[in-house]
Parts: sequence; structure tokens; C-alpha cells
Amino acid sequence: MSIQTIGIVGAGSMGAGIANLAAINGFHVILQDIEDRFLDGAMSRMDKFMSKSVERGKMTEEQKREALDRIQTTTNLEDMKDADVVIEAVIENMGLKKEVFSQLDKITRQDVILATNTSSLSITEIASATKRPDRVAGMHFFNPAQLMKLVEVVRGFETSDKTVEELKALSARLKKEVVEVKKDSPGFIVNRIMIPQFIEAIRLLEEGVATAEDIDKAVKFGLNYPMGPFELQDFAGVDIGYHVMEYFQKEFNDSRFAPPLLMKQMMRAGRYGKKTGAGFYDYKK
Ligand code: NAD
Repeated sequence: MSIQTIGIVGAGSMGAGIANLAAINGFHVILQDIEDRFLDGAMSRMDKFMSKSVERGKMTEEQKREALDRIQTTTNLEDMKDADVVIEAVIENMGLKKEVFSQLDKITRQDVILATNTSSLSITEIASATKRPDRVAGMHFFNPAQLMKLVEVVRGFETSDKTVEELKALSARLKKEVVEVKKDSPGFIVNRIMIPQFIEAIRLLEEGVATAEDIDKAVKFGLNYPMGPFELQDFAGVDIGYHVMEYFQKEFNDSRFAPPLLMKQMMRAGRYGKKTGAGFYDYKK
């Protein structure tokens, strides 16, 4: 059946971004979180984002109002019974994701695709919490989901071709560029490439080869990236990259992915980047 209503579980940075994207592209959205304050925060961030689009002439005030009206918020997961597809965007925790998928499996229609926005966890393991692993896949958006063009559609071990094709078609309706990740491999494509780049950048800094500012400048102007590795980590949170490195090291059983000592020390010192007021740019040795 054709998808008209998208269920989104978790109304944080990613859930709200995906809800915003879906609503402005004409879908009805059921956005669920555990407490009203998270849903209120998400609605106010979406209102702010759309107001900027109105100011820039990208949408009218009426289109903004209609898009916001298409979003139904709820703290009751049972409301996902009306969704034609569900995208899960709760925190990155396997136990919690499996619990959410097990409940969604009981609540939603049997033909409904259950997708996860996980950045690194195993799609196959998440799918094992359901009785429909063929209808479970990764649908990995990037932050901010309204603006970043890419979606990685990720196959779990049991994901069917039909599920992959339907998620690719949905991504196109959301006006995204889509790539298929053919195997459930940690970090998929983008993070698998990005993490070793972070590690090498941190090693250069540790070895005193260049400052964080100059490494970022080199990457921006030499590789034409919009942000350097330190700017990006200070913005996203040093802890996020750190946990992915530890996860890769364990999953691939490969010390190549081990977090460098400087990063470990930053974690111990609570220097997680912008959100803690200190990050790589404050490292002056
Ligand atoms: P976040 O912390 O901003 O939001 C998570 C939300 O999930 C919170 O609002 C929280 O209240 C809610 N939540 C927690 N338990 C819940 C439950 N049982 N039911 C419903 N909601 C629940 O996190 P985020 O940055 O939006 O990340 C969400 C997912 O997206 C993670 O898997 C993350 O790895 C992935 N992701 C994040 C980024 C990023 O840059 N932030 C990019 C791509 C993918």
C-alpha cells in the first residue's frame, strides 16, 4: 500500500528533523516520545525551522501551518497502529531499541516496515526482536535531517528486496539521495569512512604535526569539505565519535579503530566539545 502516514519514535534531534522533513513533503506524521516536554521541544524547533524557511521565501506561512498541522504528537506508542511505516530514532542503546521494536511488532500492521535510524548498531540484532525481520531495515538520515541530502538504506541479514525498494522509494519522496548498504556492517558507509579520518586527525594533533585549526583548514581547502574534523567533533560531541571508535574496535576486533590517548583524556576530563564549553580547539600543545 502507498505510504501516507509516517510514524516516528523519539522526538530528539533526529526524530524532530525527520518529522519536519516528512511533514513539509506532504506526509502525515505520528511523532511519539516518552514525555510531553520532549514533544513540545520538538514542535517548537520545527516551528522555528519552518519560520526561517518562510523568511527565506522557501515556503508560505500557510504551507508552514499546514505542515505543522500534519504532525500528531503522542506519548502513547499504541498510536503507531495507524502508521504505514515507522522510523525509530530513540537514543543509541541496543536494549532500548529492541524493546521498542518488539512493541512496534505487536502494535503495527504486519506489512508495515519498521526502520531504524541507528548510526552504528546492528540492524540484524534489532530486527531479531520482531517476528518480521524481512520488514526491518536501517534508514540512516544525517543531522540535520531536513537539510542533509543523504539517506543510507541498510539491509539487515533478513531484510527483503521489497523492503529495500520501498525504503528507497520513500527516500526519493522525501527528496533525498539514497544509497543502499548491502550488508549490515558497523558504521555503514559514511561513518566507516569518517571515523578513521577523525582518528588520523587526532594522531596528527597528538604528534604535534599541526594545530587543530590548521588541520581543519587543510581538510577544508585541500579536500573541499565544508567542516574540518575537529570543528565537526566539537560541534557533534567528542563523546559520540569516541563511543563509535570503541564499538568499531570491538566489532571488527581491530586496534586500528582504538580511540587515541588524547581523546581518552578528553573524555576523562569531560571535554566533549561545544556542549561542555571545551573541545579539541582548546588543546594547545
Ligand atoms: P536525542 O537524544 O536527541 O533524541 C532521542 C529521543 O528519544 C529523546 O527525545 C528521548 O526522550 C527519546 N526516547 C528515549 N527513550 C524513548 C522511548 N522508549 N520511546 C520513545 N522515545 C524515547 O538523540 P538523536 O541525536 O536524535 O539520535 C537518535 C538516533 O539517531 C540514535 O540512534 C542516533 O545514533 C541516531 N543518529 C543521530 C545522529 C546525530 O547526529 N545526532 C545522526 C544520525 C543518526
